[in-house]
Amino acid sequence: MKRLFFYILLTFLCYGYSVSKHTDSLKQRLLKSDADTTKVKLLAKLGFEYAFIDPDSSRLFCHQAIDLAEDIDFTRGSADAYNSLAISYDIEGNHEVSITYFLTALDLYNKIDNREGLARIYNNCGMVYQSLGDTLRSLEFHNQSLALEKELGDPTGIGYSMTQIASIHLQMEHYDSALVYYRSALELLEEIGDVQGLSYVHWGMGELYMYTNNTEKALEHSRQAYELFVQDENRKGMSETSIIMGRTYLKQKDYAKAEEQLLFALGLCKELEAKNVMLECLLSLSEMYKQQSKFDEALAYYEQYTALKDTVLKSEMTANIKEIESKYNFEKQQQQIALLNKENNFQTRLRNIFIVVAITISCLLVMLYWAYLSKARTMEVLKTKNKEIEKKNSIIAIEKQNALAAAQAKTDFLSVMSHEIRTPMNVVIGSIYLLMEDNPKPAQLENLNMLKFSAENLLTLLNDILDLNKLESGKLELESIPFDFNLLIKGISTGYSAEADKKGIKFLLDIDEQIPSQLIGDPGRLSQILNNLISNGIKFTEEGSVSFSIKVVGKSHKKVKLKFVVEDTGIGIPEEKQDSIFNNFTQANSNTTRKYGGSGLGLAITKQILKLFGSEISVKSKEGKGSKFSFKLSFKNDHVLEKA
Ligand code: ADP
Repeated sequence: MKRLFFYILLTFLCYGYSVSKHTDSLKQRLLKSDADTTKVKLLAKLGFEYAFIDPDSSRLFCHQAIDLAEDIDFTRGSADAYNSLAISYDIEGNHEVSITYFLTALDLYNKIDNREGLARIYNNCGMVYQSLGDTLRSLEFHNQSLALEKELGDPTGIGYSMTQIASIHLQMEHYDSALVYYRSALELLEEIGDVQGLSYVHWGMGELYMYTNNTEKALEHSRQAYELFVQDENRKGMSETSIIMGRTYLKQKDYAKAEEQLLFALGLCKELEAKNVMLECLLSLSEMYKQQSKFDEALAYYEQYTALKDTVLKSEMTANIKEIESKYNFEKQQQQIALLNKENNFQTRLRNIFIVVAITISCLLVMLYWAYLSKARTMEVLKTKNKEIEKKNSIIAIEKQNALAAAQAKTDFLSVMSHEIRTPMNVVIGSIYLLMEDNPKPAQLENLNMLKFSAENLLTLLNDILDLNKLESGKLELESIPFDFNLLIKGISTGYSAEADKKGIKFLLDIDEQIPSQLIGDPGRLSQILNNLISNGIKFTEEGSVSFSIKVVGKSHKKVKLKFVVEDTGIGIPEEKQDSIFNNFTQANSNTTRKYGGSGLGLAITKQILKLFGSEISVKSKEGKGSKFSFKLSFKNDHVLEKA
């Protein structure tokens, strides 16, 4: 352990930077430098320099370097600064904290695969673990460092690592393996003429040979080490090697030389206040005087030894307490940092959540506002449309009212006019009949017949118009009166049979015998329907026949259901017209009126009357072949009514 401080210093010098006595020049360079990476490098260097003289300033520089390096993402600079920071803690004896920073630096060098940096950190970690008494881990790190240095082909590094490994083996009393490493290191460092390295190798080898009782070799190496330490002005090294030489002389029982070396070493130790080395020196002196039976001197040195041991132990305890305190403080700091980070994280998360929520709310508000606007716009449009629709509806309503009023006016007009014209028309027809009875001349009779035909036609038209008006305004009511069905049919048939004869066509009548003669219904409207259908049949048939049949299709005690069919072999109706002929004033052909007369009202009236009866008319026709109109009507039996 006693070699440790020197090794650390040596290795730090080797792997870190040369301890410069020109911290001022570094500071000046720092002030002048513009580049951030240069600033980081200079700050880390200053951190390293101050580690040996002022740990607080050292850490300040290191932290500045770390902050700047992190700001500019300069990993290498950051790693260097952590390395310096770790060294500052280690030199102070705070190994626990030191190792934490070394491991951070290790991580960073690993990230950028900086092999030189890694080799340095492996070595430094090895030393710190050695300080912490974790020899195996220390050896592990030094071996890793050695492997990397071999890979890098760095003879100095290899030599120093081998020296470190040898020293650990020596500490573990593995003298053979320690010797192998020392020899290899010696060879390598001699080759490159590394004085510092060689001084440590010789020192180690001197000690090794002393322990293995090879006093000649021990003295030889110790002397070489001493000379190199003198050369390097390393007084601590000088005192250490003097002690080894003294102890070796003691082994040789050369008390004079042993005393000389040990007293010289004691003087140096006092001068350097190197208490641990001094302890070894005092103990060796006491031992030496004891061996010479100079018990007073032996006791005196032993007392000095115990007194110093007490002081050292106390200061070690204080140092330990300080270390524990600083470790505790460090951990506390770390915890606080972690807590702050956590809080920071929490705040960051909170802020993020807040941002997300704010954005979401903003979006929602915008969407709501947009929706409101579009709804308002839609409402506005709807309102306008509604107003337009309302306006249109009211216009339509007005127009409908007007149309209805106009239709009503037309109906009323037709109705009034028909009525008004029908009375004089009856007078006209009556007068024609009277004139015809007054034995008119043949030419006069011909004129009177024409007049009669036209007047009757006009009257029929007037009656039709009146009927239609009544039907459309719902004013036409069906009668329900008893009538002689056979008589009614006979009357109609007789007239049309004569008319058919005149035209040279047949009129065929087929009446079901099961039909009761006395029925209850509206004989007037039934006559109107049959007259219309049969007269049309005769009118539109030039040859062949018009047949009129009535069949019982349903019969009960109270009622009889009859099917009326009027069929002709006339001109027929085109298929596309078979629906429209039932509309008012509609005829199948434009020349019908001219050729056959008529107004196109008959079938419309027929359809509407049948509708009142709860029946409907159907037509089957083929152009040029003839037409067949049929409908069914129910009548109550007269006797049923009487009984009721
Ligand atoms: P009108 O006979 O006074 O013209 P209708 O309403 O009775 O009026 O008949 C409408 C039209 O139907 C007729 O003009 C005619 O074109 C057609 N039609 C009706 N009955 C027949 C039929 N038996 N044969 C051929 N066409 C017919």
